[in-house]
Amino acid sequence: MRRSPWLENHNSAWRLQALCVGEDPELFFPLAETERATARARAVCRRCPVLLDCRDWAIRHGETDGVWGDTTASQRRAIHSAALDR
Ligand code: SF4
Repeated sequence: MRRSPWLENHNSAWRLQALCVGEDPELFFPLAETERATARARAVCRRCPVLLDCRDWAIRHGETDGVWGDTTASQRRAIHSAALDR
């Protein structure tokens, strides 16, 4: 069984509101990072009340796999790189 974003962050209070609790973890860690493969997970994220906390956590911790806070790993890398260039 794959991990789930909310399980990974057991020390973060925001996880208690994570909408991915109860969702199939496979949704959030698809084999491909395509729009089609990530669409269902990202739809859950867009309804999640802690989207920004989750995204921030994933970027700050360099999370390299999966969908976190409506972002893919490559999108998070781009956000992180852009922040470093400032
Ligand atoms: S933003 Fe997405 S991955 Fe993050 S806690 Fe919410 S549903 Fe889970």
